[in-house]
Amino acid sequence: MSKYWNQVTTSLTPYVPGEQPKDKTYIKLNTNENPYPPSPRVLNAIQEVANDDLRLYPDPTSDALIRTIADYYAVSPNQVFVGNGSDEILGFAFAAFFSPESAIRFADITYSFYQVYAKLYGLTVDRIPLDADFNLPLERFYGSEGGIVIANPNAPTSTFVPVEHLRSVLEHNPDQVVMIDEAYIDFGGESAVKLVDEFPNVLVIQTCSKSRSLAGLRVGYAIGHPELIEGLNRIKNSFNSYTLDRLALAGAEASFKDQEYFAAMNAKVITTRTWTVNKLRDLGFLVPESLANFVFITHPDHMASSLFQSLRERGILVRYFNQPRIDQYLRVSIGTDEEMQALINTLEEIMN
Ligand SMILES: *Cc1c(COP(=O)(O)O)cnc(C)c1O
Repeated sequence: MSKYWNQVTTSLTPYVPGEQPKDKTYIKLNTNENPYPPSPRVLNAIQEVANDDLRLYPDPTSDALIRTIADYYAVSPNQVFVGNGSDEILGFAFAAFFSPESAIRFADITYSFYQVYAKLYGLTVDRIPLDADFNLPLERFYGSEGGIVIANPNAPTSTFVPVEHLRSVLEHNPDQVVMIDEAYIDFGGESAVKLVDEFPNVLVIQTCSKSRSLAGLRVGYAIGHPELIEGLNRIKNSFNSYTLDRLALAGAEASFKDQEYFAAMNAKVITTRTWTVNKLRDLGFLVPESLANFVFITHPDHMASSLFQSLRERGILVRYFNQPRIDQYLRVSIGTDEEMQALINTLEEIMN
């Protein structure tokens, strides 16, 4: 509390990201970072632009990166927006498309930043409970007053709604914006980008942080109808003309131009995920099918909070959410094969 804070600042509940510990080296399976480095072409591209031109502002309209992303998804550049991580884009999108007088909807268990933005902008939220298997009750998203946000695959549950099912949500909300947050889509799900020409109300948001190993570069993007993209640009250009710096623009562009590396790294993560799910099930964990780079696990005989603590003491960090409905679950990011083997060995040791 401070007497200098205004009412909005005083009332906020800021997002708390997973910890980035500095006390010792952990096996870090707590923030869904990619265990593999970015493409060497990304590092070369960044080194090439780390020169005297840094005295100059970057391109305020990010033209080259937008063109690259548009080509990659076979859409036009006026259907693409880029931002400083997808969190920033979500923040802009909430500001651009949602209003305090009309309640928005998102799941009771989903990415917790949505609630933070809702509070920041004074929005009302109808939280729709996921069913017992953490699936979305789609009909409950029909006919929303103010708009919808769906993370697909969902975080932290890892569950996925097929694109054909999302179509019904879009059809039943023709006058509202439906945001599909696809931070984890490259790990096996089918993207809703294929619906953007058909539905002017869908905004698909993705990021280079997870599947492109660039969490540290801060690049996200959104794909949707040109009117939605223009709305995002109106908000962005009312905050900051230069959300992406020269290094980020060059690095992200290079990432999209190294498809082979991207495909190979994602395939590795998926193979390791399959191995991990099987091993965890052998240990008695219940593991919903995951199409993300993490799994969401619970054990009938072991408290999630004590597993979390015991793993931490043994140098392995996972994510524990002390929240209703999921306080017996752990979210575990997929690391390298060696890291996942260490996780399995350590869990075995703890549970015996
Ligand atoms: C990681 C994540 C984001 C944020 O990604 P950045 O692009 O790094 O800001 C957004 N949504 C979900 C569901 C995520 O898990």
